[in-house]
Amino acid sequence: LWQYLCDEFKKSLSELSFNTWIGSAKPVQFTDQTFVIEVPSQLHRDYWSNNLLAPASAILEQVLAAQALPTTVNVLIKLKNEANPLSDAQATSPTPGQAETKMFHHDSQLNENYTFDRFIVGKGNQLAHAAALAVSEEPGGLYNPLFFYGGVGLGKTHLMHAIGHQVLQTNPTAKIKYVTSEAFANDFIKSIQNKRQEEFRQEYRNVDVLLVDDIQFFADKVGTQEEFFHTFNTLYDNKKQIVLSADRLPNEISKLQARLVSRFEWGLPVDITPPDYETRIAILRNKAKAENMSIPNDTFSYVAGQFDSNIRELEGALVRVQAYANMMNQPVSTSLAAEALRNLKGNNKTNLLSISIIQDYVAKYFHLTVKDLKGRKRVKQIVVPRQIAMYLSRELTDASLPKIGEEFGGKDHTTVIHAHTKIAEQLATDRDLQKQIQELKAQLKD
Ligand code: ADP
Ligand code: MG
Repeated sequence: LWQYLCDEFKKSLSELSFNTWIGSAKPVQFTDQTFVIEVPSQLHRDYWSNNLLAPASAILEQVLAAQALPTTVNVLIKLKNEANPLSDAQATSPTPGQAETKMFHHDSQLNENYTFDRFIVGKGNQLAHAAALAVSEEPGGLYNPLFFYGGVGLGKTHLMHAIGHQVLQTNPTAKIKYVTSEAFANDFIKSIQNKRQEEFRQEYRNVDVLLVDDIQFFADKVGTQEEFFHTFNTLYDNKKQIVLSADRLPNEISKLQARLVSRFEWGLPVDITPPDYETRIAILRNKAKAENMSIPNDTFSYVAGQFDSNIRELEGALVRVQAYANMMNQPVSTSLAAEALRNLKGNNKTNLLSISIIQDYVAKYFHLTVKDLKGRKRVKQIVVPRQIAMYLSRELTDASLPKIGEEFGGKDHTTVIHAHTKIAEQLATDRDLQKQIQELKAQLKD
């Protein structure tokens, strides 16, 4: 099974990623639809959690399905020196190893990293954060249901888990259940197939806080919506807290029954919008601190300048930079960060771009000629655009350093490195330059 997983990942990951993340991991146990994988550090664990868990489960489920075996697989990641989470689970389970007891998603444990402590508050999520805190202090109170909506990677799931943790802190016996809407739907369908609907209802209606994530996936599922309607009513009538999230407002989710939409609107809908620059910096600092990474200030600025609409990607970029530094055995710097993130952004289908097109656009943009860019004049009005053109050639094409040098009138590859580093570093703080590069990239995309 592990070999199969590796083979599949090899197809979709670069060699660098594969070696870094998969090569360092090893399978520990597979029982009861749970696959335990061991990784060497917290950094690896985070990367797995953020990027590899879902595809890994999907791959494993495919393999099992092909052999007509159960098709829900849980992948757990453990650190090297940690106890095997499965042995714990089995120690407390009265009938270990029986698929029977795993009927529903009992594993609604909350992600220990998704706490209020670790949540950076900024303009885009201030209201959502405040609402989450209010609900944690008084579950089933004023804001029921609480409904988070906003784009991918902006902290909705994080806040839902944080509510769970916080409620448990004040009331350790509280029953918290977190599920994605897909898990809810799957459980429901299984309960019908196995004639265990009563058990399903126990599981979902007997809780103090029910957190259902990404309910836009309820669209189209008529039976599930019907069941959820009743779940909702029971909880609501008993003054139990309901927290929901989606990528948009209830009334914008097509094919969501009107009566659900109206119920979801009873409480408080709060949106989460992308973080501003300062918040992004704060998030990166926080991440670095949590992971014990040593990152210079200008590198934070650089990374924050590159990713502005998805916090998962933003944090992922930092992890990638650190992993790259470890691999190269060098301290993190902005030029190294630019290097580490180059391929990531190179994936934007700009491969067909040629250096000469970049030169054309940059020359036009700065009212110069391509000859100026290829020449050796050292006046500032030409030097900076020349460096920008080299920077873009490095970022947006697959050309090697010597090749770029050659296209710029036969310059040495160290000149190209120098230009790239200079621009990358300046990008961290220079807003005008950020704007210029952004505009040029937008033009080049067309
Ligand atoms: P969503 O559910 O909205 O798609 P997530 O809650 O999964 O987003 O967040 C994506 C990642 O970004 C998670 O690792 C989360 O911890 C992190 N994150 C999101 N918002 C914040 C924040 N305000 N402070 C710190 N980390 C955050
Ligand atoms: Mg989410």
